[in-house]
Amino acid sequence: MRLTIVGCAGSFPGPDSPASCYLVEHDGHRVVLDLGNGAFGALQRVTDVLDVDAVVLSHLHADHCLDLTSYYVWRRYRPEGPAHAIPVLGPTGTADRMARAYDLPLEDNMHGEFVFRDHLPVTEIGPFRITTTRVNHPVETYATRVEAGGRSLVFSGDTGESDALVELSHGVDLALYEASFISRYENLPLNLHLTATQAAEHAIRAEAGRLVLTHLVPWTSREETQAEASAAYDGDLVLATQGLVIDV
Ligand SMILES: [Zn+2]
Ligand SMILES: [Zn+2]
Repeated sequence: MRLTIVGCAGSFPGPDSPASCYLVEHDGHRVVLDLGNGAFGALQRVTDVLDVDAVVLSHLHADHCLDLTSYYVWRRYRPEGPAHAIPVLGPTGTADRMARAYDLPLEDNMHGEFVFRDHLPVTEIGPFRITTTRVNHPVETYATRVEAGGRSLVFSGDTGESDALVELSHGVDLALYEASFISRYENLPLNLHLTATQAAEHAIRAEAGRLVLTHLVPWTSREETQAEASAAYDGDLVLATQGLVIDV
């Protein structure tokens, strides 16, 4: 299974990366985890977007879903004719949220391009087994475990500290966890995001094989994030960068 970091900027696109988006490939199949703002352009650089089997949205904050509207335009109006509809797994109300985002009438939403499905505990897409669990964020948000070919990764979505994330990640080969905050920030809100230390602690509790930190907010120093996580985690650790490809 191969992971490509399409977008790893947290909360808004940065100068070096779009917002949240990850391409997972195995055996000629592809799923896209999140399509945050700016991500659809970068996605076209790393794959033929016609070949995507499904999109999985962690939640409906702008930095995780808004470029589904761009993908809708691509599938509907491409010169070769409309592309077949593909599944979009998302929180409750994803279809209406996307219609509003593109200013479509709700009754004329994107059902020709996407088959919207609520997250289920387990979904099979081609060779991928996709398992989700609710995590700790102000809106309905899911962490996602993807398994194929005997390998596994977990993407945290956005979350504060979460036992459910640890449980979903148990024994995973690669933990792709958000680290929006660093501990020295004052008055950190609870139940919103992880610090680099907390992300490391969650990966240790889950006995993850390696840790990739993402959702890195452009105004936070990458060096500080790296140093903070490294102090808490002595395993294989990297910070996500746009375009990074990892064989899981
Ligand atoms: Zn976010
Ligand atoms: Zn969020």
